[in-house]
Amino acid sequence: MQSFLLKQYVKKVKVSRMNTNENSMEKLISLAKRRGFIFQGSEIYGGLTGTWDYGPLGVALKNNIKASWWNTFVDSREDVYGLDAAILMNHKVWEASGHVGGFTDPLVEDIKTGKRYRADHLLEDAGIDVSGMSIEQLGEMIKEKGIKSPDGNELGDTRTFNMMFKTTVGPVADDDSVSYLRPETAQGIFVNFKNVVDTMRPRLPFGIGQIGKAFRNEIAPRDFVFRSREFEQMEIEYFVRKENWEESFTMWKETMIGWMKKIGLDMNKVHELDVPEADRAHYSKKTIDFEFDFSFGKKELYGLAYRTDYDLSKHMEHSGQSMEYINPEDNKEKFIPHVIEPSLGVDRTVLAVLSSAYAEEGEGDDTRVFLKLAPEIAPIKVAVFPLMKNKPELVAKAREVYEMIRKEIPQVMFDDNGNVGKRYRRQDEIGTPKCITIDFDTLEDATVTVRDRDTGEQERVATSDILEKLK
Ligand code: ATP
Repeated sequence: MQSFLLKQYVKKVKVSRMNTNENSMEKLISLAKRRGFIFQGSEIYGGLTGTWDYGPLGVALKNNIKASWWNTFVDSREDVYGLDAAILMNHKVWEASGHVGGFTDPLVEDIKTGKRYRADHLLEDAGIDVSGMSIEQLGEMIKEKGIKSPDGNELGDTRTFNMMFKTTVGPVADDDSVSYLRPETAQGIFVNFKNVVDTMRPRLPFGIGQIGKAFRNEIAPRDFVFRSREFEQMEIEYFVRKENWEESFTMWKETMIGWMKKIGLDMNKVHELDVPEADRAHYSKKTIDFEFDFSFGKKELYGLAYRTDYDLSKHMEHSGQSMEYINPEDNKEKFIPHVIEPSLGVDRTVLAVLSSAYAEEGEGDDTRVFLKLAPEIAPIKVAVFPLMKNKPELVAKAREVYEMIRKEIPQVMFDDNGNVGKRYRRQDEIGTPKCITIDFDTLEDATVTVRDRDTGEQERVATSDILEKLK
């Protein structure tokens, strides 16, 4: 009976066509919501633009991505230390870093509706290359090309808009109580540079890594979690001698590429962009953007920047505290290290991972949607089913197998809803690499059916070999 049912299902998914091209954002958004990956923030109140909530499977995916990053970039290295700095920081941090004065985007307003837009995005949407343009040039270009708002109205002048969320800390609101939600995790690392040096006594080159929330009051959040107002970053500040910056830059570039492959990004969609000087951040002498072919265009996924000694120098100047590194070999040589920064967004990783993994097979009602997630980051590693729900002996055996696996692999799911075919489809959609079905043969010969997500192939495996097989 079991073999018949399973074979029927397999026949259904034997396909005439692999369809991965029609990988539109709408399909991903719909799957993400339907299957509990990502919901709109504050949805029952009509949402809050630029915020997203990660559901049970989304948080599992995100945690797996972060754990994999931490493992590769921090734990598996002798020369990188971890940190978890506060989100709220003294406002002087942001004055020193240049964010209060210069962390801005070009804003332009629809003079009729008052809606605000990013001037550079409106020009880009009209097919105009804006690289290297100053705010004045963007404004002139909008006028020259007669660019209108998406509602078809005239646009006002282009001006700068600071993207930091301002708040006050404590009961008295005065100049000193002003603080900002951090727009990047990097500054938390720079202000702790001395603390880490004094406590861990690292030798150069060494790095400090951090994962945490960052906030930017984006003028126009868009493209799902790609551009949000609240998001997460995974950043390393890697401190080097000035003369050695290039070799560390190359080393981190390779590490980033290796990690992208490890988490299953479609590397055909990843492109390196050597950012021209005019488009680089004020502190950077070299920046490479890793861009990804999202369905809404080729956009920045990650950045790798040579930040020189800009940040440590500025903090030394503004705080009056020394940010110098003293060479432990001679205890004499003092200098401010230079910095290489691999900066990766968690949410953009989630989106790139889902875009890379999304696949469809078959046609019409027979279409099978599956996520070819790398097992390391799949939210559920394995699902266990009793062939039939109304046979207590099968359910009991399936529960036993489930509990056995759970002890070793906590990300396991038990499912006895609907028929086996439907269960496979549900697991395919959430990217579960293996499904295990307990049937009547299991009771006789202690073997189970293990089915592979990507090929749909099934094999009989002894219960005692399941864990070995899964690992
Ligand atoms: P963009 O040009 O797309 O606004 P950026 O150059 O300002 O990005 P960085 O300041 O280099 O971005 O930030 C480092 C990383 O943080 C980015 O590569 C991206 O992965 C992530 N990131 C930045 N802004 C956002 C955002 N609004 N929403 C989600 N992730 C973001």
